This record gives sequence, C-alpha cells and structure tokens, in this order.
Amino acid sequence: MTMQQMVKQLNTWAHEYYVLDNPSVPDTTYDALYDQLVLLEKQTGVVLPDSPTRRVGGEPLKNFVQHTHRQRLYSLDKVQSFGELAEWVSKVQKEVGQVEFSVELKYDGLTINATYENGVLVGASTRGNGVVGEDVTEQVKTIRTVPLTIPFDGVCELQGEGIMKLSQLDKHNQKHPNDPLKNARNAAAGAIRNLNPKVTAERNLDVVFYSAGYTEGLTCQSQTQLVDFLKDCGMLTNYVFETARSFEEIRAIIEKIGEMRNSLDFLIDGVVIKVNNFALREELGYTDKFPKWAVAYKFDAEQVTTTLLDVDWQVGRTGKLTPIGLLEPVELCGATIKRATLNNFGDITRKKLYKNALVFVRRSNDVIPEVLGAAEENGDTITKPTTCPACGSVLTEVGAHLFCTNASNCRPQIVARITHYCSKNACDIDGISEKTVGALVDNLGITSVADLYSLTDNDLATLEGFKQRKITNTLNAIKNSKNVKLAQFIFALGLDNVGSVTAKDLAVRYGSVEALSKATVDELTQIDGIGDVVAEGIVQYFAESENMQIITRLKDIGINPTYEVEERIGVFTGKKVVLTGSLANYTRSQAQKLIEQNGGEIASSVSKSVNLVIAGTDAGSKLTKAQALGIEIIDEQTFQQLLQP
Ligand SMILES: [Zn+2]
Repeated sequence: MTMQQMVKQLNTWAHEYYVLDNPSVPDTTYDALYDQLVLLEKQTGVVLPDSPTRRVGGEPLKNFVQHTHRQRLYSLDKVQSFGELAEWVSKVQKEVGQVEFSVELKYDGLTINATYENGVLVGASTRGNGVVGEDVTEQVKTIRTVPLTIPFDGVCELQGEGIMKLSQLDKHNQKHPNDPLKNARNAAAGAIRNLNPKVTAERNLDVVFYSAGYTEGLTCQSQTQLVDFLKDCGMLTNYVFETARSFEEIRAIIEKIGEMRNSLDFLIDGVVIKVNNFALREELGYTDKFPKWAVAYKFDAEQVTTTLLDVDWQVGRTGKLTPIGLLEPVELCGATIKRATLNNFGDITRKKLYKNALVFVRRSNDVIPEVLGAAEENGDTITKPTTCPACGSVLTEVGAHLFCTNASNCRPQIVARITHYCSKNACDIDGISEKTVGALVDNLGITSVADLYSLTDNDLATLEGFKQRKITNTLNAIKNSKNVKLAQFIFALGLDNVGSVTAKDLAVRYGSVEALSKATVDELTQIDGIGDVVAEGIVQYFAESENMQIITRLKDIGINPTYEVEERIGVFTGKKVVLTGSLANYTRSQAQKLIEQNGGEIASSVSKSVNLVIAGTDAGSKLTKAQALGIEIIDEQTFQQLLQP
C-alpha cells in the first residue's frame, strides 16, 4: 500500500465511523493501519495534507491571531413566537411570491468558518464579530468530522457549528469526575478557543456544516444542493433538513422538532428557516445586520451566559450575607436579568466564579435567577468580605455562610425582620411594606417587631403617603395580628430555614412557642423534613437572649398563640392518614370526616410523611407500600375503638 492509499483508506473508515455513524471495520483494524502510517511518515519525513496524523494537535499556541473572513458572516434575525414567524413568512412571500423554505436545526455551539483552497483545508476561524474572527486552524484540524481535504478545487468558505455531543460530555465527565464540564456548548467553545490544540482533540468535538460564504466556482443554487455538496465533501450535515412551502408546514416541522429536542444527543436552541433558492435570496438581500431571507426561531432559553460584573453582599433578617451577582443585562425567558443570586461564599469558591468573566445564569421556577456556574475560569478574584457592608461589624463564618452578628443595630437586618413579620404568610399586617418599615426604622427609631404595637396615629402621620384612612387601617391590622395563629407566628419570628410548612409542623408538634423554645436537636430531627441544620438553627435561635426578650415582650403585649385553641384536638391530631380498601360500617367520606374532626389530615397516597394507614378489606398496593415503609397500619375494628370517647 502506498502512503496515499493508506491515508485514503483511513479517511474512508473515519468518515464511516464519525460522520455516517456506520463503521465497516473494527477499531483494531483502523489502529493497525494508522500505526503503519505513522511509521512510514517517520521514515520518509513526508506527511500528506489529509493524513489523519495531523489531527492529534500540535504544540500550544502563544496567542490567537486574527482572521478576516473573505465574506461577512451574518447573524440571523430572531423570532420567538409563531406569530412573529408567520409575519416573517408573509413578508418574504410578499416580496418574492410563494417560495420553498428549508428548515434545519439551530445547533447551540460555536460557529466555525473553514476555508478550503484547491481541495485542502487551509484555515479555520471563529465567527468573531462576523468580519474578523480568531484563527483556530490547529484546533479545528483535530476535529474528525472536519475533512482535511475535499473533492472541490475552487476556493470556498464553509460554515458550521462546533459542538460537543452530550454523550461525549458524559464520557468526559466520567473520566474527570472532579472537574466536570457543565454545559456542552461551553465545553465545545472552550475547547476550540483554547490555545492548546491537544485539549480540542481530547474533547472529541464535531462540526456540523450548514452554510457557504465566499465561494469561487461553486455552482450550488439552493440550500438543498449545498447540503448535498457538503455531504459529498464528507462533512457532517444538519440532523434535520426539511423543506416547506407555507407557514403551516414550517410550524408543523418546528413542533415535531420541539418534541424530539430533549432526546437529541446535542444541544439545539432553535430552528433555522431559510429561503431555499439562492437567486431569490439575492433578490431579498440584507438589512444592516441580517439576511432578509433567513430567520431563527428560538426556543425559550432556560439558561444563558453573561458577564458577572460585580458582587453585592446583602444582609438578610438573620444576619446572613447573601452575595448577589450584578450581571451584564441579558434576556432570559422573556425578561431582562441584571441580578442573580450566588447563594453564599462557599458556593462562589466551589463554582470557581470570577468577576468580569462569563457565567451561566438560570431562572429557577421562573422567579429567582441563579448563577449556575462559570463559563470561563479566569477574571478578577471575588474577595470574601470581613466586615458587614451595612454596619461594619466583623463577620463570623458558619459553614459556607457569612453572618453579621450585630442583630440589634444592623439596619438591613432590622428592616428585613420586621418586613418578614408583617408579610402575608406571617402576621399579615397589611399596609406595612418594606419601604414603610424602612421609614419606621429611620424616622421613628423602631428596632423590633414589638415596637409595632406601640405605634400611634401621630407616629404613622409622619410617614409619606399615610393619610387618615390608611393610618386607621394599618393600626387595625397591627391590632388584629395579636390573634395570629401559632404556625404563622412561628414563621413570623423568622428563624433561619423555617418556612411556612416547617412552622406548621412545629406548631402541631409543640403547641406553643414556650414548648418549642425548649426543644432539643434530637427531638426536632424526628419531625419529617427537619434535618440537623434546621434543628440546630431552631435551638440556636431560642438560645439567644435577645430573641427570648422579644418573645417575652410580645407575650406581654398579648401575643401568645397556642395550637390547642385554634385546632381541633383528637386522637389523630398531627397525623397524616391514608384510607385504603373498603370499610364495613362507614362510607369513605364518613371515615374521612371522622378523621378530620379528630384532628387528622387525609392523604391520598402512601409516602414517608404518612403516619397511619387504615386498611379495610381488599386493600391493595397502598397497604403493600405502607408495609414496606414500616408505617403504622390499623384495621377497621381498631379505627372504631380509637374513636370511642
Ligand atoms: Zn451588619
């Protein structure tokens, strides 16, 4: 076999393996011939331009060199709804009549512009600003789905998206469990924009080709013909290529793509719709920024990257400092995001976050945006504060968190505590917003929730926006809050990690604040959903004399709710009960009513949080599950006995 024949054979096998996903020989056969080629190249000192040995990645580069594209690479105009897409389609149709559109996936990776001359890959660059990009030839050469030679003698710039398949990301992360890559898009971009081509080679990227820029001698007249040409070049092309002649047809294809989106082995962030015919494209032309003949239909982004500009430390009601990331404004799920939580300092360290570096932002439950991780691991170090940004006190560190312990004199803590106490799920004092609390603290010098109860007409009249009617309503709301239920009161105290649900569990279990204040960690952790951290926080809260003083003051004012007076007490109090099977002496609803009248709560399915299962005859899977979970099970007779006075 000559060297040419060896290279040709190896490239054919590699094409079958990487592009067609249909290998015809085992890896060992490939490896054996590859080793022969390496030897021959060493002996002769000759390396052919398309030799697969060129893919291993050479020496690290010192810096990136700029590359000017022969033809500008346009970005695409975007639509985010079918309404906008329908508008775009009819605009095109108005200009050039009924035309055929191509519909393809929009891969979420890094755009690559590859230049071939006389059939040889002579350069590759990133898109950059569309006019000038970075030369990444050495990196791109390591990517197996980028042919080093193509059967076309002219000059052409071909564009594709550099991606990392999700299966490759998994493989990589299994190999590097301590330093996992978080996102396939950034893994691909980071590998290509890396000065060491060996890193690119290791990540096993792909490039999916879909477009041609500057060409000499290429005779393709449509996207369909271009895709055929790219395939003939041995390139990986779009996983979806369909044509459509109306908005309805395009929409149906997009819906189909939307359904398969999560089962794909790569990330897509939308669908690209183009006028298929190149001559019609020229007729439509370009705006300053975009071609008028193509549009990207973008799926809702759940995650975006943006620059972390700075960190703002906010002091909460417990004195805990929460870092808030100030971001370069970015669109996410239809809103502009400028701030996102960074959780705590430990999290910043763990996620290797830096200022002036790209980070990933996600909106969890569409409410609070969160910085998920670093998309770039360099930038300016984020320093750990040593003093409270609000009051200047020295901070203490508990676990991953920083605390200002100056509870009684640190303004944001006071404001947050009182605001929380007045909030809907707590004492529900309507009319007292965070802004009002701020004014009460600043103008009237109140420092604790107990001070609310001595506010007078004259005090409130000094506040902006408080006319007689609002003053009366607010004072009434304060007065009414004295009748708060125990669960709401426990929540209102604002213990760390104690939300409404936990507060209710504590109210049921302890019946009064006094009993709760004597609870031990061991006891608390017996309650479903309360772990060590929460339990320790509760015990800690009642150990602080300042907190006990406020509770005593509130008690003196007349606020001392107990669970007994507000809830029915009975044999099932505090128990979650499941009924299963049929009962001889009660209908299902009669039994449910009896359980509720005796303080129990009905649950529809068996889970760990269920305390009791009442099993009639023919009880099925619920009984089996209760047995497996070790939940107390009683029969109808026992149920009847329990109900006896
Ligand atoms: Zn402070």
